[in-house]
Amino acid sequence: MYQSFIGLEVHIHLLTKTKVFCACRSAFGDEPNTNVCPVCMGYPGVLPALNIEAMRMGCIVARSLSCTIPRETWFERKQYFYPDMTKNYQISQFASPLGRDGWIEIEGRGREGLIKKRVRVKECHLEEDAGKMIHTGTVSLLDYNRAGVSLLEIVTEPDMETGEEAELFIQQLRRLVRYLGVCDGNMEEGSLRADANVSINLSGRGLGKKVEIKNLNSSRFVRLGLEYEIKRQGRLLDEGGEVVQETRLWNENRDRTEPMRSKENAQDYRYFPEPDLPVFTPDEAFLKTVENALVELPLARFKRFMAEYGLNEEQAGQLCDEKAFADYFEEAAAVAVGAGLAKGDASGRIANWLLGDIRHILGREGMALSAIASFSLNPRRLASLVAMTASGKISGKTAKQTAEAVIREDKDPDLIVREKGWEQLCDPALIARAAQAAFAAEADTVHELRLLASGGPKEKRRRALTAYLVGKVLAATGGRADPKIAGEEVASLLRR
Ligand code: ADP
Ligand code: ZN
Ligand code: MG
Repeated sequence: MYQSFIGLEVHIHLLTKTKVFCACRSAFGDEPNTNVCPVCMGYPGVLPALNIEAMRMGCIVARSLSCTIPRETWFERKQYFYPDMTKNYQISQFASPLGRDGWIEIEGRGREGLIKKRVRVKECHLEEDAGKMIHTGTVSLLDYNRAGVSLLEIVTEPDMETGEEAELFIQQLRRLVRYLGVCDGNMEEGSLRADANVSINLSGRGLGKKVEIKNLNSSRFVRLGLEYEIKRQGRLLDEGGEVVQETRLWNENRDRTEPMRSKENAQDYRYFPEPDLPVFTPDEAFLKTVENALVELPLARFKRFMAEYGLNEEQAGQLCDEKAFADYFEEAAAVAVGAGLAKGDASGRIANWLLGDIRHILGREGMALSAIASFSLNPRRLASLVAMTASGKISGKTAKQTAEAVIREDKDPDLIVREKGWEQLCDPALIARAAQAAFAAEADTVHELRLLASGGPKEKRRRALTAYLVGKVLAATGGRADPKIAGEEVASLLRR
């Protein structure tokens, strides 16, 4: 049987305001060739200058992947000729990447059960992106806005074995860089791009001849491309053939990989140290800002949410998908617990709100989940709503009304409840009067109900009619009567 080996090279656009070696704006979707200058256009005689923010973000990712940051890190020129890079070389890192020897734990559900493994990260290095070529018919257009944009490349060891594992790796890495706020993770726009390397060999024989797959524009294509390629290579070997070391392109319209070019190797690039940029020596202060920016990793947080708050996998997974959402949850839960709710009760109620009504409202208002950080219904206000519901001060239905009013009027929920007189009615005398009125108005129903014995053959009918009467009592109080007391009043009137 064959064994397969998969290593990924992931490029992420760092969210620096300016490019990595010049002061041009770094943005997606601007008018072509408007964010350019002599440096990123490679005019002779100009000098690049390192954007420290890019180096810092790169190191933050490297540290989050448990990489070691070296005492010195520098840049090389990677030479190649292609119109997307006017200098005829790309400034990259070769001998001293900003991070090396790290790892990330991947964990999740696959088709055949739990996937759980540690993937080693060989290195992370900083480089500049190239321009973008748009091919139209017989001409090609060039947009250099992207030339010089900060790019971090993350290279794994060939530790993955299936397309699913690689897909999971990409999903987790995407979540991580979004958590860190260093990349928007948008694969369609190309701010996160993955090339997949794969080889197969007879079990126990080690690595085979690798094929690199490009043009994988989503984590699903990473999986599909790899699954296709593993099958293709297996067939080749079965037939006594050999795998050619090459670069192939994923063709999403034909669900297959197609040859692109035979792969160049490092010597072809004739790397040599970039003479115009000094060696970067991270000092204490720099390293401290890096360490301070580290956050709890999404996978760890997901597990903690289940253990600490008693949430199920589904809830914890959805809450932890977006950092702002998870942060909101924890803040609201802490406030609700401070207001006297038991932790499990508070967590369950808040998770239900977030994954139900609030997510729905954000969608309705056209807000991204990450925008919850600036939502008028903030964690403190949600906690107060939840506390009022738990104590019976307001009904579940009123809580929803109140939430809408908070969003409309930007006021605290307890103030709204007080102003509008939405407190739940708990006065038994008042509810009893409402019940008597309902009984008078619904004489037929009451008559039928009195003939039905509890637990008799028509139990279903009896319950439905009772619920109907309770509903009438609630309606008579504008929906504000405590449903439990209303139920008790109805039962006691029926017994008379
Ligand atoms: P190159 O010099 O061609 O860029 P690298 O050694 O830098 O090759 O590796 C690039 C990527 O390919 C890494 O992610 C690595 O894990 C993966 N890789 C290297 N050799 C193999 C192989 N034989 N099979 C599968 N993946 C491999
Ligand atoms: Zn520039
Ligand atoms: Mg390489």
